[in-house]
Amino acid sequence: MKSSVLDSPSLDRLAVHTITTKPWSLAVAADRFAAAGVSGISIWVEAIAGMSNSEVRNTVQASGLKVPALVRGGFFCDPDAQERVRRIDNNRRLIELAGEISAEMLVLVVGATPRAPLDIQRDWVRDAIENLIDDAKAANVRLAIEPLHPMYSGDKSCVNRLTQAREMCEAIQDPMVGVAVDVYHVWWDEALESEIKRLGELDALFAFHLCDWRVPTRDMLNDRALMGDGCIDIRGIRKLVEANGFRGWNEVEIFSEEHWARDQQAFLDDIVDRYKDC
Ligand code: ZN
Repeated sequence: MKSSVLDSPSLDRLAVHTITTKPWSLAVAADRFAAAGVSGISIWVEAIAGMSNSEVRNTVQASGLKVPALVRGGFFCDPDAQERVRRIDNNRRLIELAGEISAEMLVLVVGATPRAPLDIQRDWVRDAIENLIDDAKAANVRLAIEPLHPMYSGDKSCVNRLTQAREMCEAIQDPMVGVAVDVYHVWWDEALESEIKRLGELDALFAFHLCDWRVPTRDMLNDRALMGDGCIDIRGIRKLVEANGFRGWNEVEIFSEEHWARDQQAFLDDIVDRYKDC
């Protein structure tokens, strides 16, 4: 049932990731998001390929939207030490870019390689992030470690649980470093509640990403569901992060071949409706 205007929850904290409406250019996405009442746009690097920083900034400013995050940096893991240095340098450039487009944070998908043990890779990640803290401070861009579901531990992320991300924050101990909680990646974890509590105590709850887990999932990457079309207790997790001090953005991040094939305006309208329900 649709809410009436009078009881509509506020969209003040609703942001949408550009990847969610991948067929749209940045300019179209910014226009349509703003027209739909969305307040923020988290910008994927892919969405701004070929654009200058000032073009990106002007496009976003014209829409009036805020930029919760540049997505995504990280990918620190490689057995070759020189390659790891190159990847850290690449993240320095992304932090600078994030600062120039007024993004509040850079999301870190930390990376993984099948050619090294996961615990050693997590040490590389911690070293890499420690190397980037001065850059993050200079650009006033926070770094959000995003744990990814264990199905990605072979090639995308050696940080797969909130526990590992929280332990990394505790080891680094810097207010610029925290965690992005994406319901898709962490909903199944029995430690969800206790870890969100501990992250709240550390002031390390930086981001909250929304979508749903489709059952059955047909593709490991591009089959995320619209909120309400899967098995995640989104409302419950949202209450949990808010009860532990989170006051940041609710960012809708859906990669889905099914939804990309639809009319993107109808999809965006559905996102706003479903957001009001969760
Ligand atoms: Zn996410």
